[in-house]
This record gives sequence, structure tokens and C-alpha cells, in this order.
Amino acid sequence: MKIKLLLCSIILFSVITVSPAQQQWPESLILTPEKTDFIKTSTYAEVMQFISAITPMAPNAHVISMGKSPEGKDIPLVVLASSKISTPSEAAASGRPVIYIQGNIHAGEVEGKEAVMMLMRDILLGNKKRLLENQIILFAPIYNTDSNDKMEQGRRPSQEDSPLEIGIRENSQGLDLNRDGVKMETPETQGLITNIITKWDPQMFVDLHTTNGTWHAYSLTWAPSYHYAGEAGPYEFVNNKMLKDITKTAGQKYGLFFGPYGDYDLREGWPLKNFYTYNHHPRYLVNQFGLRNRMAILSEAFSHERFYQRIYSTYAFVTEILEYTNSHAREIVAINRKAEEDAINNVKQNSGKVKKGVRFKMVSNEILNDFRTYDYVATKKADGKTEFKRSGNVVTFDSVKYYGTFQAEVESTLPRGYIIPAEFAFVAEHLRKHGVKVDQLTKATSYKGDVFEIAELKKSQRKFEGHFMATLSGEFRSQSRKFKKGDYVVDLAQPLANFIFYLLEPQSDDGLVNWNFFDSYIEKQKADNKTVVYPVFKYY
Ligand SMILES: [Zn+2]
Repeated sequence: MKIKLLLCSIILFSVITVSPAQQQWPESLILTPEKTDFIKTSTYAEVMQFISAITPMAPNAHVISMGKSPEGKDIPLVVLASSKISTPSEAAASGRPVIYIQGNIHAGEVEGKEAVMMLMRDILLGNKKRLLENQIILFAPIYNTDSNDKMEQGRRPSQEDSPLEIGIRENSQGLDLNRDGVKMETPETQGLITNIITKWDPQMFVDLHTTNGTWHAYSLTWAPSYHYAGEAGPYEFVNNKMLKDITKTAGQKYGLFFGPYGDYDLREGWPLKNFYTYNHHPRYLVNQFGLRNRMAILSEAFSHERFYQRIYSTYAFVTEILEYTNSHAREIVAINRKAEEDAINNVKQNSGKVKKGVRFKMVSNEILNDFRTYDYVATKKADGKTEFKRSGNVVTFDSVKYYGTFQAEVESTLPRGYIIPAEFAFVAEHLRKHGVKVDQLTKATSYKGDVFEIAELKKSQRKFEGHFMATLSGEFRSQSRKFKKGDYVVDLAQPLANFIFYLLEPQSDDGLVNWNFFDSYIEKQKADNKTVVYPVFKYY
């Protein structure tokens, strides 16, 4: 009896010690949701406490600040590598690609923050150390620091108060950090672009969100970088290979359903026919990455699931992204490098000859089968109109048209470069912050190229992110023009060629014109009754 009991306890003990569920963490590494049965999400102070607790235990972790939030909080970033890396030059010298992953850009979408900390724990101290074999990981768990702590119940009804209280979507200036990628009006974006992106040069950017849209029945949906004015290589790898493979793995390994991001419109009726993605604009950080010849992934957990489930699906997705980048590290670097070379060569060989898109529309060129969604039943309202009510049943549909690509509506000729008059120093400075190489003329020089004659400057009626968005219509006219010493020259044969083109083209749908960089100049010229010419000159 005693021997049996001893044997039993030995067997039991050995089962316990090998089980991954028995990983022992010190109290300081237990996350707020874990401590509270997933009723609460971590505050900024709790995230900082976690980072202060874990980094002394892991000699291969290094903490830096991306910059300060408007309220003066440091935005923390943890560098994880097989041996400690503390500077971008050490990262570059290691020959390993940098993978950047951030949570909490919208501070009501908090699961990325928790999943990133969970994964940090497993990679540094647990059973996922192998994820540092071939890569360097930058984890930014709490990008929107300020608004995380302005917690209140009922902010996102779709989440049914799970967790009970969450923060605000916008930053403390009231600006959406995921619409700020072009204009860079927040300290958060400026810190991210100037201190991290342009210095550490991540090959992959991952942005963790939670969608409160359509009741599709996926635990997580994803999107690549919709970069359509950029090179195709990085997009094709992420969209056609990596995300499809990870989606398969999610089912096999985790029993989770993942799929492409989007919404459907019940006004189109039921059964489901069309599913639409969001947008291609580089104001969204993920989309900007494609124009930077790098890869990026948007991750959207499903807000209608409980908090613990959303953390799990985000955790599984980020884990599988890192598995994939770890085992395809060289391929990813090679694809991105080729995209960069192609962008530069295109300018050198084809400027003045080829056109590239500057305004785009969403189109469908993919059919989704086995598309999962909650079902809807039709009822007649008192006024005779049909109303669709969601049922608790999950169904699948075939032949759903997926609007997940973009087609150019307006194109413009690719120049060799742009000249920006000296009085627009703020434009040159803005481009430099984005990582663009901008030179100045050392003597008066003549250039042959195009000016854009403005027919109309149209402003939106409604304010968006503090702006009445502007669009220009007009026509290009070829011209030779003499520029003076001190004017700015942007040679487009540089790595950010595609991004610069999108920012500076006058008819672009998400460039500097749209964000009002030139309004006061144009409006003043109009008042003087001159033919108004867009001040940035294209040369060939
Ligand atoms: Zn979001």
C-alpha cells in the first residue's frame, strides 16, 4: 500500500515536472489578468513593474525608451536577442533581422499588451528560447501609454466588459495613433519612426489590435501591408505564403480559426456575398511598411470573444509569426533587400517613362470558400422592411467575394527626384524625420521636369484627426526651371523611393497635400489671383 502510494506520487510528481503547465513564475511575473481571473488588464505601472522584474532575470534582455508620451511617460521597448543587444549597430552587426511587435496602439484593445508580456516571459525564461536563434525581437507592449490608464467600464460594448474596464482608443492628445503615420503629429509616432524604425530597421512590423466589427466567426483576422505603390515582393511573401501557412498551423496546433481581415455589410442582404478589407493608406503603420520595402502584419483579435480567449489567439498568432520569421529569417531579409534594390533601380532606369498609382480603389480578385460567420435570420419589421437578426449558429459560405486588393485610379509619372523650395524647410524636415535623404543645392541649378498646375484645392467638410483633408486637381505641364542655392533636392534613387513618391505626389490620396502641408501657400497664392502651381517640382 505504502509502496504503491510512493510509486503513485513519483509518477504524479514526474508528470507534474514535465508538464509545461507547471512552469513556475515568481509572483512578480504573474500578469494582472492572470491574478484577477481576467477581470482586469494591466496598468502602465504594472507593465513597467513586469519589465523591471523580468529584465534582471534575463541577461539577454535590454530595455529602451522609444520616447515620451504627451503626458511624459516613457514608452518602453524590450530588445530580446540570444545575447544582449543594446544598440541598432550591434543588431546590424549580428546579421540577424529585427522583428518589431507592438501592442495597445488603441488602448481599448488590450490583448496584444498581455500577449506580448506572456511571450516575453516564455522566450526569456520559459520554453520558447529557440525563437531567438535567428532573429532579434523588439517588443513594445504598451505603445499608447497614456490612454491605457484612463480605464472605464462599458467603453467597447462588443467586449461585454471583459475585461471590466479598458482605456481610450486615441492617445492623450485625442489623436488616433494608427492614422498618424504620414503626418507624425504625436510624440508616439515621432518616437517610433525616428528612434526605432529608421534606426533599428525592422524587417517585419506587427501591430496588434482587436476588431469590434462584423460577427465573422474567426478568433483572429489578419492583413498584410496594402502598399500598392510599392514593390510586390514583401507583400506577396506575407500575404500568399506566410499568413496562409500560419492560418493552417493555427487550426492544427491551437484549434483556432484565423482568416483575412474585413467586414461585411448586412444592407447587402443575406446569405453573405461580399467581404471587404479596410484601406491602403500609409497613415496606417502597417501599410506604410510596404512602401518602406519591409513586411508588416495587422492582427485583429475578435472582440466578441472573452478576454482570455482574445489573449490566447493573439498569443498563438504572435508565436507563430515569430516561429515563421525565425525559420525564414534569411529569406525575409533577401526579399526585402531585393525590393529596396528594385525600387532604386526602377528610378534609375525608368524615371520619366513609367507611371505608378497615387490614388486607389478597393477591388475583389479573390474568392473565399468555407468562410465562417455567425448566421443571420430575416425578420419583418412593423414598417415592412426586412431586418437581419444574428443567430447563435455558426455557418460557412462558399464563393464569398473578398475585396482585399487595390487598383490604381490615378497614376503619375515616376520622376528622378523632387525639388522643394527653401521656404518649405518644414517639408524637408518632415521627410528627414521619416528617414528620407534630403540635400540642398550648393549653387543655382536649372532642372527640366514637370510642374503641377492646380485647378482646385478641395477641403473635406468634416474634420478628421484635427484636419480638413485636402485634395488637389489639376494638370502636369513640362517646364525648365532654375532653382536657387539652398533649395532642397530629393534624389528618388534611395531606399524610400516609393514612400517619398506617395508623400510628395500632388494627387496622392494620403500624401503631404492631404494633410494640409501646402494649404496656406496655395490659399495665399489664390488670394493673389495667380496661376497656382504646386510648389514641389518633379525633375527627370
Ligand atoms: Zn485597433
